[in-house]
Amino acid sequence: MDFKCFAENCSNKLKFYCSCKENLIFSCLAHIGQHADEDDESKHVLKAIYKTTDHDRKQYLIGKCEKISEILIKTQSLINQNIISMIESLTALKDATEKYYQNQRNEIQNIIEDLSQNNREVVVPGYKASDYCLEEIAYYNDNLSLKTNNLDKKLKADLTRFQELYKVSKFFSINWLDYKSNANLDQNLYFFRKGTKTFVEFDITTNSLSQFEANIQENQGGLPAVCQIPEGKIFYYGGIDPNLNFGYIIDLRTHIFEPIPQLRALSYTHATYYNEEVYIFTGHPGTVKCDKFNLAERTWLSLSNFPEGSVYSVSVLPCIDYFILSCSSGKKLYTYNFISNNYQLLTSSVENSTCNLLFRDGDKYYYLSKESYFTSHEGNLKIWTKSAKNLSQSILSITSKPVTRNRNVYFVSGKHHTVFKFDLDTESLSKVLTY
Ligand SMILES: [Zn+2]
Ligand SMILES: [Zn+2]
Repeated sequence: MDFKCFAENCSNKLKFYCSCKENLIFSCLAHIGQHADEDDESKHVLKAIYKTTDHDRKQYLIGKCEKISEILIKTQSLINQNIISMIESLTALKDATEKYYQNQRNEIQNIIEDLSQNNREVVVPGYKASDYCLEEIAYYNDNLSLKTNNLDKKLKADLTRFQELYKVSKFFSINWLDYKSNANLDQNLYFFRKGTKTFVEFDITTNSLSQFEANIQENQGGLPAVCQIPEGKIFYYGGIDPNLNFGYIIDLRTHIFEPIPQLRALSYTHATYYNEEVYIFTGHPGTVKCDKFNLAERTWLSLSNFPEGSVYSVSVLPCIDYFILSCSSGKKLYTYNFISNNYQLLTSSVENSTCNLLFRDGDKYYYLSKESYFTSHEGNLKIWTKSAKNLSQSILSITSKPVTRNRNVYFVSGKHHTVFKFDLDTESLSKVLTY
């Protein structure tokens, strides 16, 4: 981190950042008042730069950093070897070139001297003064540039081998769920263009789409059960328009689609990764059935029926001991205990709809339902309070996981081709793009 306090020549330790400008403003403790007085005071949103890290996360981050450090050492050593061998080759090339040009100049000098001092010229065919040909020099030069190109090619080839390692680091395989955020492994948003085999990844850091054609039989729909699982893979099942009873484990690195055993045609519900299994509660058309998929054995197992009856649009937020579940109708949120395999009522004070999503920001819990939203607090999750203000628009039907980056939570409605973000500071919803 190479940030500095916004105050000129200040080298104090940084304490806060402010998101009032497009590029974040950083400040030390001494200058924070000065910044707060600048410009339109209502625009400042000051936040602490550091937060205390708990033991599990600390271990996770240290492990990840050590792995990255290893990769950095390997890359640096490879580049070093390449550069040293380039220097050796270039030095040899320089010496040879100096010698070659010196010889050429000597030859011409000799011809000049013979002409001016001795009034004579060589008449042996191929050695005549009038035969001296600059095109030979061009041939030498072409060869020279070929040799330097080859050095560059070798460096590029060596570095390409390392790109696979960088991907490994991105998908570093300690599957750590952050219970102060959304407790999922999802890095980005994943979906198909509806009615096609085009699989799309929406990168929430760059806000850009990348896509590839899936090597599968059937065109895909919207609103499948989808979530990221370990090793940079995606669990993907079902979809609507068309209704599908197919599922795949998708490898984001190799683009290989591995079919998984059939469950039932389903859409309008979430897939949730937890402890080497993927949980699916209900699904459209409405049902009480709930299941989990064991990733090691590639088998399905039934869970207890959903307590609200036949529903769908079950959004899932994992907590340390249980999941919080919403559904498509009524006023209730439930908890599901994955050890005892049973449900309990959490609250009866929300308003469910088919368009809903649960997510978390530290100790604060959010439940978005159409254009309303409710919040709760880690200390008392039985109390959910409806916000006085409405969202600027309904969130549509969502089956992607919520993915938080900086202070925004991103999610996608695959039925309506819309990527949304929810700003955690202003608690406002906006469309990022339609595709
Ligand atoms: Zn300062
Ligand atoms: Zn500010």
